[in-house]
Amino acid sequence: MTTPAEVGAAAVPALAARTADVGGSPVRDILALTARPEVISFAGGLPAPELFDTDGIRAAYDAVLRESPRQVLQYSTTEGDPSLRAAVAARLTMRGLPTDGDDLLITGGSQQGLSLLASALLEPGDSVLVEDPTYLAALQCFGLAGARIIPVPTDADGILPEALDALVATERPKLLYLVPNFQNPTGRTLPLERRQAVAEVAARRGLWIVEDDPYGELRFSGQPVQWIAGCAGAEDRTVLLSSFSKVMAPGLRLGWLRGPAELRRACVIAKQAADLHTSTVDQAAAARYLADCDLDAHLTTVRNAYRQRRDALLTGLPNALPPGSTWNHPEGGMFLWAHLPTGHNATALLHRAITHNVAFVPGAPFFAGEADPTTMRLSFTTHTPSEIAEGLTRLAKAFN
Ligand code: PMP
Repeated sequence: MTTPAEVGAAAVPALAARTADVGGSPVRDILALTARPEVISFAGGLPAPELFDTDGIRAAYDAVLRESPRQVLQYSTTEGDPSLRAAVAARLTMRGLPTDGDDLLITGGSQQGLSLLASALLEPGDSVLVEDPTYLAALQCFGLAGARIIPVPTDADGILPEALDALVATERPKLLYLVPNFQNPTGRTLPLERRQAVAEVAARRGLWIVEDDPYGELRFSGQPVQWIAGCAGAEDRTVLLSSFSKVMAPGLRLGWLRGPAELRRACVIAKQAADLHTSTVDQAAAARYLADCDLDAHLTTVRNAYRQRRDALLTGLPNALPPGSTWNHPEGGMFLWAHLPTGHNATALLHRAITHNVAFVPGAPFFAGEADPTTMRLSFTTHTPSEIAEGLTRLAKAFN
């Protein structure tokens, strides 16, 4: 066979600049380093695999494949399985947000919801406001769309509405992206008054809100807070995203988008171009699971386990991190956010930690503005309380 050089082949045209501009995810690179079985990892945002309802999910797949193989193995509509949309809508309605199945688009995880919104809403150069720090893959998604990403200042409770108001006035952004419940990476939950204030700013100044809520059902203490999508002024301009990743299993890659009709239609067009539709059999199995199994009972088990794991982390942290470190007490979700004393660098510490077979994610990559090198994200869901205790002993050694 002749090689391209022998036939004098010309170089292929260059790749589009956008993936190089955005870069890969440092978090995914860290996960690759920590995949060794001996590592106790506080790094990945991985749901506890031993808690997956494997039997229930297998039975749901068996049932739909046995009873309606010709339907569930066939192409289907872009909007999604009507029975799954109805089941999701019923759960949202029960939790206080009146929703019809037709208000929903089923997506390949909430991550796809973000990409579809970026396609539907953003022109290159448009401004997007984000909490600082925020979910890394949202930064990648908006970056790929060519958006100008503008950080909004936050405190321990999340986004500051006055700062938001000022930035909307000067930057004229298309949208605000936020994770109001048990945020990734900080575990913070935005209080009701701030949600109402965010809705008021969006109404008064004209702004789309993307409310990304994959963790809301993982509350194990305190009271649920109303969605921004239900706050006065925001109803017609909020897109709510969520998924089955944290409540059933992330490998299903099933999520959904709830939003106003015109925007949803634009997302349907973007989805037709992306993947035609989400897997028919996966949607049918999820709908069947919701009909035959008790997701709420399963969630009670998951929440109880995660509460114990968070408490194990909170118990061990004072002896693991250097004196003067601080951290928050999330009421749910999967993450805790810690600050090392000034002068420490969490990225440098990670490299030492990995030699002690323990890992976490430095906070720096999650910042859209100036990064705080002292911050770290600790996930508490993947390991048992005794493994968490052992991981913290190793972390203490890495500091000495
Ligand atoms: N949004 C946030 C805030 C997340 O943390 C994640 C997953 N880590 C996602 C979206 C994507 O989740 P999925 O696509 O599995 O629903």
